[in-house]
Amino acid sequence: MAPDSSAAPLATIPAATTTVNAAAPVAAQAQCPYCGVGCGLELKPPANLASVPGAAAAEGQWTARGDRHHPSSLGQVCVKGATVGETLHHNRLTTPLWRERTDQPFTPISWERAFTLLVERIQATLASKGPQALAIYGSGQMLCEDYYLANKLLKGFLGSNNFDSNSRLCMSSAVAGYQRSLGSDGPPCCYDDLDLADLVLLIGTNTAECHPVLFQRLLKRKRKGAGPRLVVVDPRATATSDAADLHLAIRPGTDLALLCGLGHLLLERAGVDPAFVAAHTEGFAELETLWRAWDPARTAAVCGIAAADLRQLAEWWLQASAALSLWSMGVNQSREGTATVAGICNLHLVSGQIGRPGAGPFSLTGQPNAMGGREVGGLAQLLPGYRAVADPEHRAAVERHWGLAPGSIAPQSGLSAWQQIEAMERGELDLWWVVASNPLVSLPSLDRVRAALARCPLVVLSEAYAGTETEAVAHLVLPAAQWSEKEGVMVNSERRVTLCHAFRQPPGEARPDWAVFAELGRRLGFVEPFSFVSAAEVYAEFVALTAGRLCDSSGLSHQLLAEHGPQQWPFPAGTAPGGGQARLYTDHRFPTPSGRARLWADLPLGLAEPPDAAYPLVLTVGRVLGHWHTMTRTAHVARVGKAHPEPLLEVHPMDAARVALADGALARVRSRRGAITAKVRLSERIRPGSVFLPMHWGAAQGELACEANRLMHELGCPISKQPELKGAAVTLAPA
Ligand code: SF4
Repeated sequence: MAPDSSAAPLATIPAATTTVNAAAPVAAQAQCPYCGVGCGLELKPPANLASVPGAAAAEGQWTARGDRHHPSSLGQVCVKGATVGETLHHNRLTTPLWRERTDQPFTPISWERAFTLLVERIQATLASKGPQALAIYGSGQMLCEDYYLANKLLKGFLGSNNFDSNSRLCMSSAVAGYQRSLGSDGPPCCYDDLDLADLVLLIGTNTAECHPVLFQRLLKRKRKGAGPRLVVVDPRATATSDAADLHLAIRPGTDLALLCGLGHLLLERAGVDPAFVAAHTEGFAELETLWRAWDPARTAAVCGIAAADLRQLAEWWLQASAALSLWSMGVNQSREGTATVAGICNLHLVSGQIGRPGAGPFSLTGQPNAMGGREVGGLAQLLPGYRAVADPEHRAAVERHWGLAPGSIAPQSGLSAWQQIEAMERGELDLWWVVASNPLVSLPSLDRVRAALARCPLVVLSEAYAGTETEAVAHLVLPAAQWSEKEGVMVNSERRVTLCHAFRQPPGEARPDWAVFAELGRRLGFVEPFSFVSAAEVYAEFVALTAGRLCDSSGLSHQLLAEHGPQQWPFPAGTAPGGGQARLYTDHRFPTPSGRARLWADLPLGLAEPPDAAYPLVLTVGRVLGHWHTMTRTAHVARVGKAHPEPLLEVHPMDAARVALADGALARVRSRRGAITAKVRLSERIRPGSVFLPMHWGAAQGELACEANRLMHELGCPISKQPELKGAAVTLAPA
């Protein structure tokens, strides 16, 4: 869109910054800023500030505890949420920083200079290479308002759909899988289903460590002897499988094969609901042909499990009045991630286990606002309100809402996360803007990522914390007001929307990301469309764009959420507080052209990089209970550091013996992309042939650095474009 030269001067628009209550600090409510469970937290001010009017300062430690009134967590909280108050004031960025070249030191600059630089470089890039040379890489840490304005500016007003986020690494296969099978993104289940299911299949999820509060909810039922049966599918024995009634330790990359084998037994044992299939699905004939080929003997051989265990799972599925499947990155981070999500949906659809209490395919999101990101269009193929860039009607609806001329939004999906790296390798991106993420730890093939970034003339980083691995490759660093210092909305895995209050002053000159994008939009000449003075205004514009869509949130506002607490969507205008919908598809009509869900007969393919003679082991990466992602916050929590002092490479004793590695020895782990050194922990809890490393410890962790993702490859699911971070071929040797 052409800049509006007749628009009001900038001086008429108040600077949008965080304002916290001028009275003495009081307890505040928010959603936990770590995982997608989205527990409610209650934050208490530091004792020395509690009676000082206007003293909501950045310094001083707030104390977090579970909010008993939050419907998603009912007062429960894990170590991460409980210690978040200890992380808010450490190591913060307080002023914009600039350097021409990344081998130079940073110089502090003013926001005025930072905006001038951004405007000049964006305009120069548009003039020389066009909008496709601009890209933003965002994060599930962004609040809905941050996400929405970044997307509005880039996709709507600058003409580039190159907004992608670290959610691409986390759950884009779940998005694509739901869309493909059910006709739309949006988990159909809710947390109450954990209390109602009599069989819970946990596939590709270490829920005990990655979504601990949900897992405790399941355990509480089990301890009372009230079920449910838990079946865990994971190549490793974990804290999750320790509580399972059945653990299927499959070979890495064989999840879809297992699901086909389960389908075979449902066919054989009259586990298909013919009335449901006939009335509410399409594609059964092809699926039946596929499943017939996966008898228990073949499935067991491919997956490396006992056929009897597969039969046991089938037996329990047949007996279940309500079966619930939970999954996260073990399914999504796969070359066949979307197909595996479809495989899970297939089982629920053919057996009618969907759209009723306790039953359904339930994707657990990794990050606190990954769900909200999906709704505001926070991936390169999406537009706000569960709309698709590729759909002309969707583009037209968004253009109208944004006051843009028809055809303003480019018709092609933008570059996904890894495509952005490849574009930098080719010298095609002139500006890469990272927001609230640390991709120099979390992306695969990190040496290749570093080399690609060296070819990008301007790397911008909006970040709350100093000294991250991504800061080391940035030219312009913008200090961000983080959760607790800005007002805004997050949405958790059960579609529950929580208003997070600002209760601390941001340190120094840190600003909310949404305010930065609004200011930049105005300075680029789009004054009226970016004339927001509060996050509440931004949210109001976003929810109006969801009216009539599956994720209709048009009845929500900051005010309603502040007065009545968290709400689930769908929540159309006029819905009474508490009237959101707990489950989707209860009428068994799906948002596809035919109104039927689609069954998919995808062939299991296995790992993109299977082990071979040169690289005989499969490295899989994951998380530990206390740390969050790349440790920008949790590295500062003493209790967490004590629980997880160092990264350890789990190796089965048989594999270790072959290369003479003892417990505690240092191993050189090598893949086709590089080598790292890690301390060995011998463990019979990992399958022979596989090794495991946590992904948290990046280069900034000094002597403890152990860049697991340096070894991983970028090949991924061709539909969701999610890299296969759960399997790379490696070899071990004593270091
Ligand atoms: S389970 Fe997740 S959302 Fe809940 S307190 Fe722990 S990290 Fe936070």
